[in-house]
Amino acid sequence: MSDNKKTAGVDVPGGDKQEIQQKAEEAAVCDTEKPARKPVILSGMQPTGALHIGNLEGALKNWVRLQEEYEFYACIVDLHSLTAIYEDTKPLKSLIFQMATDFLAAGMDPERSAMFVQSEVKEHAELHLLFSMLITVPTLMRLPTYQEKKDKLDSYGFLGYPVLQAADICLYNADRVPVGKDQEKHIWLAKDMAQRFNALYGKTFKEPEALFTEIPLIKGSDNRKMSKSYDNHIPLEFTEKQTEKRLKQFYTDPKKVRKGDPGRPEQCPIFLLHRIYTANAEEEIAPPCKTGELGCVDCKMRLSKNLNVALAPVREKREELLAKPDYVWDVLAEGRDRARARAGRTMEKVRRKMKIDYRATKKKKKK
Ligand code: SF4
Repeated sequence: MSDNKKTAGVDVPGGDKQEIQQKAEEAAVCDTEKPARKPVILSGMQPTGALHIGNLEGALKNWVRLQEEYEFYACIVDLHSLTAIYEDTKPLKSLIFQMATDFLAAGMDPERSAMFVQSEVKEHAELHLLFSMLITVPTLMRLPTYQEKKDKLDSYGFLGYPVLQAADICLYNADRVPVGKDQEKHIWLAKDMAQRFNALYGKTFKEPEALFTEIPLIKGSDNRKMSKSYDNHIPLEFTEKQTEKRLKQFYTDPKKVRKGDPGRPEQCPIFLLHRIYTANAEEEIAPPCKTGELGCVDCKMRLSKNLNVALAPVREKREELLAKPDYVWDVLAEGRDRARARAGRTMEKVRRKMKIDYRATKKKKKK
């Protein structure tokens, strides 16, 4: 029989949750680090290549706002994507490049934010390994993400995916992690890991908090969530003509067959996009849709015009960046160095606390 204690549905190896919680509360925050000038935020995105308007509205615009107030670490999490695409890694380099290009095109500022590739900061892998000692296999097997995909992805790497996620966050001693309400669980494990580590080895990690953001609902051409994998998206790299063509293929209210038929805008993905890209959509689009005065073809053309106007500066910047790829790679290299510096400090502390810094150089005493 396992000697693990189970508390609040979580198995922790040989632990007493109440005791851990109490010690962790005493531990509070990181003790050796000087306070950051600004609170720290870590956010990650898997390298899926060129981004689409769902990514732009759902994450990037928020990142661009947050970089004003926070020390921002934007991580392209290639190690996470390897859990699914480990057999064919050739496209990764291009996918990373396109993603970084779109970060910059959308307004991410390399002066303010460190943009970097996860696998280039080896400390992610090291902390993942150390954290993996602090959680049991049954706990990981119970997590919904594992349950949902275990038939397709049953590797050791995929099982440990949430532990790597927790390591990503704790490595930067992030104060906040921007998430949608439905992603709260991602933070839960990072918090749990930080508490457990602090209780065992002494205060080391901050306990990250979720920063909830209102994410507008963006649906794709088939009325499902907009996603590259469904091929129902509008990539930022689309030309104006391609955007118009894609919008013409969009699902609309099936009860509105022709102009004159009354429509239900609240059930139409085109209207969801009008809400973002058309001023006064509630007055300008919804009423004539409902009366039948506005036909779907005209409605889509109006959206196409407004969407193309809104995307024009992003597309222009994108073209400029594509013409100087070295600059994009340099931004990632500079971000990597900043990330390494912060992650390196954390790991020095972690090794010291765990007493595995066997050959650490002692500072010479001043005479
Ligand atoms: S008129 Fe516009 S909002 Fe109404 S159903 Fe057609 S496309 Fe959708």
